[in-house]
Amino acid sequence: MNSKHVIDLPKKIVIGDDVIGDIPEILKELNLWGRAYVLTGPNVKKLVGEKVADILQGEEAEIEVGVVRTPMISEIEGLVDPIRKFKPRAIIAVGGGKVIDAAKYISRVTGSPFISVPTAASHDGVASPFASVRGTGRVTSVKASPPIAIVADIRVIASAPRRLLLAGAGDLIGKFTAVLDWRLAHKLKGEYYGDYAASLALLSAKHVINFSEVIARGGSEAVRIVMEGLTSASVAMCIAGSTRPASGSEHLFSHALDKVANYPALHGEQVAVGTIMMAYLHGKNWKKIRSIVKRLGLPSTAKELGVRDEDIIEALTIAHTIRPERYTILGESGLTREAAEELARVTGVIG
Ligand SMILES: [Zn+2]
Repeated sequence: MNSKHVIDLPKKIVIGDDVIGDIPEILKELNLWGRAYVLTGPNVKKLVGEKVADILQGEEAEIEVGVVRTPMISEIEGLVDPIRKFKPRAIIAVGGGKVIDAAKYISRVTGSPFISVPTAASHDGVASPFASVRGTGRVTSVKASPPIAIVADIRVIASAPRRLLLAGAGDLIGKFTAVLDWRLAHKLKGEYYGDYAASLALLSAKHVINFSEVIARGGSEAVRIVMEGLTSASVAMCIAGSTRPASGSEHLFSHALDKVANYPALHGEQVAVGTIMMAYLHGKNWKKIRSIVKRLGLPSTAKELGVRDEDIIEALTIAHTIRPERYTILGESGLTREAAEELARVTGVIG
């Protein structure tokens, strides 16, 4: 039996007000100073991307700036050659999930390390070694590089729309059922299970519950709590070497809904609704989860997600096919239409 287990972790995690100013120093400490490729998004470029570029230029780094417009693999692939030619010591990914996912992917392909500078706390992809890219023929994530450092500027993230922060909290609530599914797969299928990674992921979900009132109020304290939770969940994935501690049946439901209704709402919002339903299947206190989801101001119904009842039922019946090797409470054959409808109705997701 192969007992080797390799853990790749970020070397530095900096969370605080105005920490984007520390990027030059962080690059120097990591011995990556010199040539930096700033990867950003079309909107965030004006808000933060240019500021980061200015800070680097002020310290006389040689920089190039690239923009990611869509999460499509075809567009991301197009950035690989220019970045290879430029040979950056580091890629600085300044943006939301789309930009950071692109950087993770490009980092793995080109071998240039990247620093994650999230401008929103909307999901745990900000620091995990897995990237969600579209157009690959699958809706789940692909293995990529974890960031060498994470620079989470609270002031920057606090100025992002509140909906994004709440979605981040929703993604964290999902760790409840993700960990239950992982334990189930361990017991029934003999799958590797790491208690430490599982505990860490679970802690980030409990953190959201304990601080749900603070998060609902918003502001910098809320950002700090969600950002720390998302970072812990990412680290849990690095430790486990898979997305298992952070992604179970609630994520399969969200991915299925993306397929059925073409990405109708934010990832974390869909995951939150999925968690309510999967907690019911696990026989856990789904009512408590639903009340927290509501208290946070996250959607808890089909209507609030902006989909039809039928889309929810359809997503529930196909969720188990999204990633067949990932065993969850949905089992190998999934839910029948009747069971799916009953589940969505009992939990109040459909009317
Ligand atoms: Zn997620």
